[in-house]
Amino acid sequence: MKSKKVLIIGGGLAGLTAAIHLAKSGIAVTVIEKHSYPRHKVCGEYISNEVLPYFDWLGLDLTGIKAKTITDLRFSTVAGHVITTTLPLGGFGISRFALDEYLYQEALSNGCQIIIDQVENVDFENVDFDKDIFTISTQSNQTFTADLVLGAFGKRSNIDLKLKRAFMDRKSKWLAVKAHYQANITNNMVSLHNFDGGYCGVSKVENDVVNVCYIVNYDAFKKYKNITDFQEFVMTKNPHLKDLFTNSNLLFEKPLTISQISFDKKQAVEEHIIMIGDTAGLIHPLCGNGMAMAIHSAKIASELIIKYNNNTIESRAALEKEYQKKWKYTFNKRIQAGRFLSLILENKTSANLVLKMVTTFKFILPYIIKQTHGKPLTVES
Ligand SMILES: Cc1cc2nc3c(=O)[nH]c(=O)nc-3n(C[C@H](O)[C@H](O)[C@H](O)COP(=O)(O)OP(=O)(O)OC[C@H]3O[C@@H](n4cnc5c(N)ncnc54)[C@H](O)[C@@H]3O)c2cc1C
Repeated sequence: MKSKKVLIIGGGLAGLTAAIHLAKSGIAVTVIEKHSYPRHKVCGEYISNEVLPYFDWLGLDLTGIKAKTITDLRFSTVAGHVITTTLPLGGFGISRFALDEYLYQEALSNGCQIIIDQVENVDFENVDFDKDIFTISTQSNQTFTADLVLGAFGKRSNIDLKLKRAFMDRKSKWLAVKAHYQANITNNMVSLHNFDGGYCGVSKVENDVVNVCYIVNYDAFKKYKNITDFQEFVMTKNPHLKDLFTNSNLLFEKPLTISQISFDKKQAVEEHIIMIGDTAGLIHPLCGNGMAMAIHSAKIASELIIKYNNNTIESRAALEKEYQKKWKYTFNKRIQAGRFLSLILENKTSANLVLKMVTTFKFILPYIIKQTHGKPLTVES
């Protein structure tokens, strides 16, 4: 039986994971990614261990790229009060520069075709009863056809505009900054430091490099001229951030930034494109679970596509319905918990109340973490 042709738009975590999964199952996969590898991305670079059983099943082994084990979480308030807890599942630190490059190489060695180009248009055409096809065109005027398209184009893309997705009409107040530093911080620990207007995640990645990534409300940021001033006059009011910025060396020429980060609701399927990763929905970075969710959604989509390919799922409509149902069931609660948490922590009074409760009742912080994370990913045989 001829396998369905799958085309994936975007070769980040979700796109490359799905590509590897589908290729391992004998499905022909093409990934179109607009940037070449390797490349730094704005991300906290802490991944929950929930992905590890699935990575094992995919034959992925991160020891070669020296992922750093992370066992503990430290949270500090603007005034510098600290709460530390053991992470229920734990995780690891790895730069996106190393991780995406590793997955890219694994996708290639599993036989995926990867094209560096920007997708400009996706058209779905009903050629005949029960016969339909996608036509995908790129910036460099290449045209592809596919039976199925996975949308793995991340938080915000030209394709979102083309699809007139609702969240693109609403302005988002969040922007984020990330850079690597040489600094002396505790091993095995991810720290989340609060400052006026946002949060800063700090943890080690491979080779003892320290990743510093923060998300900030634009209203808080815009009063300052630039990143240096904002860090100096706002962030360093938190003594832990002051210590970090005073005693570290920036390893990038300048920090990377992104803006318009939207946590609005998105559809898991649009114009018959099956959305995976941030394209389907983004949890607040405060929760440190976006990457695990991107990988998990790639797994859900791949498993269903394999069933569609071998006719266990009989129609495109059934495939789309099942994917939407599973996405909602798996991620809705987590995303809502993340939204609720960020709302509480944005307000100084409620944030202080929560922080008092968390320091008094030690079980609360692990409970909150569990609400924003999933269980280890088991794989259907
Ligand atoms: C500030 C911040 C901190 C975060 N920290 C963490 C953390 O510590 N832990 C965690 O688990 N999660 C974290 N996240 C979330 C995490 O980064 C994302 O959930 C994750 O990157 C999603 O992967 P993805 O594959 O969906 O998207 P991406 O990795 O963004 O991949 C999308 C890809 O699509 C490509 N693309 C876009 N448009 C096109 C096009 N038209 N044609 C071709 N290619 C295209 C892009 O170039 C990109 O490579 C954080 C997010 C933010 C904003």
